[in-house]
Amino acid sequence: MAWIKICAKGHRNERGAMVCAQPGCEDDLSGVMPVEEPEPQVEAGSGPPAVPAPTPAQAPGPAPASHVPTKPEAIIRLLTEDGREIMAQNGDKIGRNAIGTEYLQNFPTVGREHIQVFSQNEAWRLKNISQTNPTFLNGQEVPRGEEREIKPGDELKLSTKCRLLIVL
Ligand SMILES: [Zn+2]
Repeated sequence: MAWIKICAKGHRNERGAMVCAQPGCEDDLSGVMPVEEPEPQVEAGSGPPAVPAPTPAQAPGPAPASHVPTKPEAIIRLLTEDGREIMAQNGDKIGRNAIGTEYLQNFPTVGREHIQVFSQNEAWRLKNISQTNPTFLNGQEVPRGEEREIKPGDELKLSTKCRLLIVL
């Protein structure tokens, strides 16, 4: 860490300099207070030294309560028959071309976007958004566009082929 003087145009000079040494500048440095030289930075052209990006403003939200147990992460897990997990968050769509594609693309009768999941107040719902293929919850068909609450242990079927277990 060295002490330097920075002229009005941003040139760096030795701490004892009285006049800017930059050719063509020659700013008076007699009244300039030496400052500690910042950490060496990658010079991008001759622009001013890079400033660290401002920290993003904190999103407004409920004030953290110190002694309330933290809410569980709003993630729902669906267990496949071969033991994989499909993890989704509030608003996610699940289907052959959506969340879970790595597994669900093996099922041609599963819709590209088959269901959508929502979390609210620690409860989860699913909505059947499939255009053509049925959705069953615990053996009961969920009509297209309708929502049902889902709980751990519920069995979900996308089309008649793909069985998933709700884990949460
Ligand atoms: Zn200068």
